[in-house]
Amino acid sequence: MEKYQSYALRNFREIPQVMEHLTEEEQFDIEVVGHVLPFKTNNYVVDQLINWNHYQTDPIFILTFPQKHMLKPAHYREMAEALRSDASKAELKMIANKIRIELNPHPAGQLEKNVPEFEGARLTGIQHKYRETMLFFPSQGQTCHAYCTFCFRWPQFVGLNDLKFAMRDTEYMVKYLRANPHISDVLFTGGDPMIMKTKVFSTYINALLDANLPHLKTIRIGSKALGYWPQRFTKDEDADELLRLFEKAVKKGVHLAFMAHFNHPRELRTAEVKLAAERILNTGAVIRTQSPVMRNINDNSDAWALMWQRQVEMGMTPYYFFLARDTGAQHFFAVTLENAWQIYRNAYQRVSGLARTARGPSMSAGPGKIQILGISEIMGEKVFVLSFLQGRNPDWVGRPFHAEYNPGAIWLNDLRPAFGKEKFFFEKEYPLTRKPAPLEVE
Ligand SMILES: *Cc1c(COP(=O)(O)O)cnc(C)c1O
Ligand code: SF4
Repeated sequence: MEKYQSYALRNFREIPQVMEHLTEEEQFDIEVVGHVLPFKTNNYVVDQLINWNHYQTDPIFILTFPQKHMLKPAHYREMAEALRSDASKAELKMIANKIRIELNPHPAGQLEKNVPEFEGARLTGIQHKYRETMLFFPSQGQTCHAYCTFCFRWPQFVGLNDLKFAMRDTEYMVKYLRANPHISDVLFTGGDPMIMKTKVFSTYINALLDANLPHLKTIRIGSKALGYWPQRFTKDEDADELLRLFEKAVKKGVHLAFMAHFNHPRELRTAEVKLAAERILNTGAVIRTQSPVMRNINDNSDAWALMWQRQVEMGMTPYYFFLARDTGAQHFFAVTLENAWQIYRNAYQRVSGLARTARGPSMSAGPGKIQILGISEIMGEKVFVLSFLQGRNPDWVGRPFHAEYNPGAIWLNDLRPAFGKEKFFFEKEYPLTRKPAPLEVE
């Protein structure tokens, strides 16, 4: 068994490579940003994924270590000054929370709009936005083997309590499913459900299997464990038991889809991840992959083409290509809609058809998942052509619509309808709040 060693703000100076390579100032930057946004990494990421000779530009270093410019200058200064003046824990926490509230901690109406009410109670461990798929947040699965610096679920990792989704009770999940027969997919998410011990995770899966719901066709597991701790499927003491659980679900006739989160081709190169993927596939599960496009991590078509190719070689199916969501350090990671589309298209052109299965670029916005189909010129006007991959209203899906071309746009609320229209077609039901004029730049 290989020992999992976790690192966070309190002990990152114990990482030998940090002490060897990072300057005092760079360590302080981590401390400043790490007081506001979550930070967690581990020995596998540090020893096997990061190239420390070029850590400043290393995609995996940027993926898990807080970066100075993830905070806007004013926020950075405020926290840095507090730390330099030895502010008390309570003061630091107050400053951190004040900054966090300014970082749009619950984007896309996750809290108000997606949590269902059922028999008089709000099911806070469930999100049900798209008709066929229910998300389930098991309470013991609300952390990860390491944290991605760009993660849109960051508020739940820093203890903004009212933003946590979690539900211990499987009974409610089953009841809710029985009452909603059009749900064909249950997606376990978090955090990372693969952080749970098999014993705990199996209580959820067994409850679903034992309920014998005829309309439940697919169990999906959203996880980054193949990227951050593949030992979960190889050397961990309950790895074999986990794979037997996967087998059991498959034998019972459900489609088991392991939704793997990978951000960079390097995550697919270690012997450990290859073995882990092989073992998962041998249970009869399938692996589908997804990632957002992020500046300084994977904002180039080489990375994507290579990533998709390797995934197909390893028996995985590329599934989603996302955009940086409008929360946390979006200003640091965001790629413009135009660039994202170019990166996607260039990568897509370079791989065989079997690797052209990732849908995107896609924004998971309030009304739904909106795909940038491309940039076009229609009746002399340059426009973005868009379409819903998923919609709050299923009827919105698959209808092309148009927005004025805007080279700086990074998110839906930067877009205005093309051809002089007031509103997008779906705004009768779901009005958008457009961004005010840009903030001053420091
Ligand atoms: C992406 C997503 C899903 C799953 O959508 P698919 O297109 O079926 O993969 C379900 N619920 C929410 C809230 C999502 O963001
Ligand atoms: S693994 Fe997923 S949930 Fe965890 S930090 Fe990364 S993006 Fe967020």
